[in-house]
Amino acid sequence: MSKKHNFYAGPAILPETVLAQSAEAIRNFADMGLSLLEISHRSKQFEAVMDESRSLVRQLLGIDEDYEVMFLTGGASTQFFMIPMNLLRENESASYVNTGTWASLAIKEAKLFGQINVLASSEEDQFRYIPKGFSIPEDSAYLHITSNNTIYGSQYHHFPESPVPLVCDMSSDIFSRRLNASKFSLIYAGAQKNMGPAGVTLVVIRKDMLGRSGRKLPTMLDYRTHADKGSMYNTPPVFPIYVSMLTMRWILNSGGIEAIEARNREKAELLYAEIDRNSCFEGTVKKEDRSWMNVVFVPTKAEWENQFLEECKKNACVGLAGHRSVGGFRASLYNALDISSVKVLVETMREFEKKYA
Ligand SMILES: *Cc1c(COP(=O)(O)O)cnc(C)c1O
Repeated sequence: MSKKHNFYAGPAILPETVLAQSAEAIRNFADMGLSLLEISHRSKQFEAVMDESRSLVRQLLGIDEDYEVMFLTGGASTQFFMIPMNLLRENESASYVNTGTWASLAIKEAKLFGQINVLASSEEDQFRYIPKGFSIPEDSAYLHITSNNTIYGSQYHHFPESPVPLVCDMSSDIFSRRLNASKFSLIYAGAQKNMGPAGVTLVVIRKDMLGRSGRKLPTMLDYRTHADKGSMYNTPPVFPIYVSMLTMRWILNSGGIEAIEARNREKAELLYAEIDRNSCFEGTVKKEDRSWMNVVFVPTKAEWENQFLEECKKNACVGLAGHRSVGGFRASLYNALDISSVKVLVETMREFEKKYA
């Protein structure tokens, strides 16, 4: 069976070489005569994986020793409540911007822990844009944003200047472009979009934020536990961490974030240009806020929805149905997707127009 063009939004495409190395590590890890899945997480071979993973995150984000790098479980969804638990004091408020489904869920969970101000929202316009120009109360414990809106296909191309600590859910665009990480006090990302398989969540936190809330927390839900124990307080998700490490190595070997960013820009521009040219399709998001990672578009005639998905399938393009809550199409162009796959999709759109329009 030949490999499909994988446009799934998550879990998502991983580099071929990473998959091959991961498969080998499941059989025989580090020439130990044992599988990666069979050994102690406290073995020196796995300790080396943890150390390299942390150091690759530091290198790719350009962060220094002011930050702690942690690999946690429970998905990005667990961060929705761990963040207020760890950062928000009992009598404080925090600010959020609502740019889509994931941001809404982060807001919902945070409300369990204090006063939450939603400074701006694009919900009234089906999240078709990124709100700008809102003012940020200086007494907020932090400002939470979602850098890329995976479901509706919008993305911050300029981050707000925040007078309070900036917290960002980067689940679907981590390591996709250059970034001034020192602007952020906390960055988190579920691995399964752009970094690795499901099962591990990256959390990068400025050390001065640890223990900020002063709340009594369950051990596993206190960032200090994982910071102090190097993400090894309990058994870490060894396989997702290993695959994420290989993916980060692959980014470096592909020329680093700068080269990845250039490729991502090229892929996104190619596809958006076709959406704008082709009479059968239209984009849903305001142009300046379009995501480079998740390209959301709709057919100009409703009956074309299933027909186009059928044509995609014929050309081995999979994962293009829009999220079940929005319909239409979504092409996810994560780091590991080669531009040749985008070219096949664009060709499919051109043929579709010739046949149906
Ligand atoms: C997928 C996604 C999530 C949820 O991640 P889980 O790891 O499944 O909890 C949160 N935020 C964003 C932006 C996402 O794309």
